[in-house]
Amino acid sequence: MIKKLVRETCHGFEPYIAGKPIETIKRELGLKTVIKMASNENPLGASVKAMKAVKENIEKIFFYPDSNSYLLKQALSKRYRQPAGNIFTAAGGDEIIELIAKVFFNPEDEIVYSKHSFIRYGMAAKLMGSKAVVVPMKKCFTHDLKEMIKACGPKTKAVFITNPNNPTGTYNTKAELAQFLKNLPENKFGMKPIVILDEAYFEYAKLEKDYPDGLTFLKDNPNLIVFRTFSKIYGLAGLRVGYGFSSGAIVDHIERIRPPFNVNILAQAAAVAAIDDTAQVIKSQKLVKAEKKFLYKEFAKLKVPFLKSAGNFILFNCAPLKGKEFFVSMLKEGIITRSMDEYDLCDWVRMTVGLHKENVLFIKKLKKIIRS
Ligand SMILES: *Cc1c(COP(=O)(O)O)cnc(C)c1O
Repeated sequence: MIKKLVRETCHGFEPYIAGKPIETIKRELGLKTVIKMASNENPLGASVKAMKAVKENIEKIFFYPDSNSYLLKQALSKRYRQPAGNIFTAAGGDEIIELIAKVFFNPEDEIVYSKHSFIRYGMAAKLMGSKAVVVPMKKCFTHDLKEMIKACGPKTKAVFITNPNNPTGTYNTKAELAQFLKNLPENKFGMKPIVILDEAYFEYAKLEKDYPDGLTFLKDNPNLIVFRTFSKIYGLAGLRVGYGFSSGAIVDHIERIRPPFNVNILAQAAAVAAIDDTAQVIKSQKLVKAEKKFLYKEFAKLKVPFLKSAGNFILFNCAPLKGKEFFVSMLKEGIITRSMDEYDLCDWVRMTVGLHKENVLFIKKLKKIIRS
């Protein structure tokens, strides 16, 4: 009955399948120790500076947060050399995707994105009733930017690019991205579509050869929105903070529709402290770089096909097992991974790079599963 009242565009949504929390698995399977390698969190944890900031602000939680995230925007402005008026903040990159959709996506619009890219883009398009135009990837599992340009027509309102992409870990180079932004055709509004560049793994990917910093394209592309998050390398996933950069006009419209208190008081304080903790970032980069090398070598030894990743996660092929079966076997061994059915990668699994001892354990269990 209630379904009759639900907006038509909200029909047919499946609940989002999130990485399972450790406590849930311990409870469900009666396991003592469980490792989570499912959601690309930072295994080193949050920055000590951020945790200190949370403690210092705990007594202020009866106040509403600063609606404007003034201090956080100032810190981001200083750190990334962008005017504060070109920055917006939100409860994670996830809310950023939704805010952009709410401001710009009409039912008659087409939204272009790549197959096997972050599923929240498709969900945002669907929520607004817009048409999703999904472009196949190249054989090497990277965004096919040339084909994405071809997919843009008069109705194209926006294009999503994930760089590096989750779950494949692949990235597009600086030259490719520059070419893409330049060649993007105008739509029926006489403008280039809005390009949403998702750089959730920027701090890991910047170590890769020819990886572009999206911010360098902002000056020449007022249609570009670049966003990042404190959930990944900064280790603040539980607090929900993300931030975006764009032209003043785009930021202004996002600001008008966002919930006034979307970034909570502890999240703002922690994020400001985390930005200055470069030691934590460098430590995390080094760990992930060394551990990816270790894991690649082990995958190769076991002849398990995998994709080299610019992020802190690796996608590997578990055929002849289905991803879901592998996931269940790994869960019984006390390790939470992510199967990839909703990304149309049914015999692939994504694992988050952990601490060395966790990765060693993961490989030990992987051997056991593929040999049984
Ligand atoms: C994790 C992630 C995000 C955003 O995560 P939040 O926790 O909502 O900030 C956005 N895009 C991609 C590709 C991600 O993997």
